[in-house]
Amino acid sequence: MITIALSKGRIFEETLPLLSAAGITALEDPESSRKLILPTNRADVRLIIVRASDVPTYVQYGAADLGVAGKDVLNEHGGTGLYQPLDLNIAKCRMMVAVRNDFDYDSAVRQGARLRVATKYVQTAREHFAAKGVHVDLIKLYGSMELAPLVGLSDAIVDLVSSGGTLKANNLKAVEHIADISSRLVVNQAALKLKREAIQPMLDAFAGAIAK
Ligand code: ATP
Ligand code: MG
Repeated sequence: MITIALSKGRIFEETLPLLSAAGITALEDPESSRKLILPTNRADVRLIIVRASDVPTYVQYGAADLGVAGKDVLNEHGGTGLYQPLDLNIAKCRMMVAVRNDFDYDSAVRQGARLRVATKYVQTAREHFAAKGVHVDLIKLYGSMELAPLVGLSDAIVDLVSSGGTLKANNLKAVEHIADISSRLVVNQAALKLKREAIQPMLDAFAGAIAK
């Protein structure tokens, strides 16, 4: 049995065509099914539906053989025990620093001010500001980062941005680009050795189906 960990929403949707290239079709839709283990057309392949940030953990411990996770999530997790053979070029967005429209970020940085930064991506934010030599107090949040600067919880946020519509709607502006984000295929290192015959053809099919 090969177990593939996916999260609901954009990662599931954007992974479907890649699975299909490997001859794998989900028999149920996670948006309408309450099942967390979804059968596929192949008796030897199943999908498990987990939180986006939990995908690396399931694969690391071998509870899933493969998974699809954003680079944002992988950077926070650290990647221990994971083989990351393919950038799938899906779920693309950017990791950015954003502040209120009326906050002068550049001069705060130039003056060496200590910044309060709210984010779900504490590790990424810590690395980014350390590399710039900016002192920060990091405040861990689990969602809706955009709210933090509006109510005085923080000066800045580190968050994913795609169109910028949410920032704009909340009177925020992006002031720094940290990284381009897309999702990668992650594979349990032991599973790759032990189940190579089943896994390698999937990797080859995914590789051939990646959009440029
Ligand atoms: P949860 O909803 O469980 O808290 P999440 O919000 O991270 O997790 P999604 O919104 O489905 O879950 O995001 C999954 C992945 O998709 C993220 O880890 C990121 O790599 C990518 N992603 C997030 N937001 C966007 C976006 N606006 N555009 C494109 N890709 C995105
Ligand atoms: Mg989300």
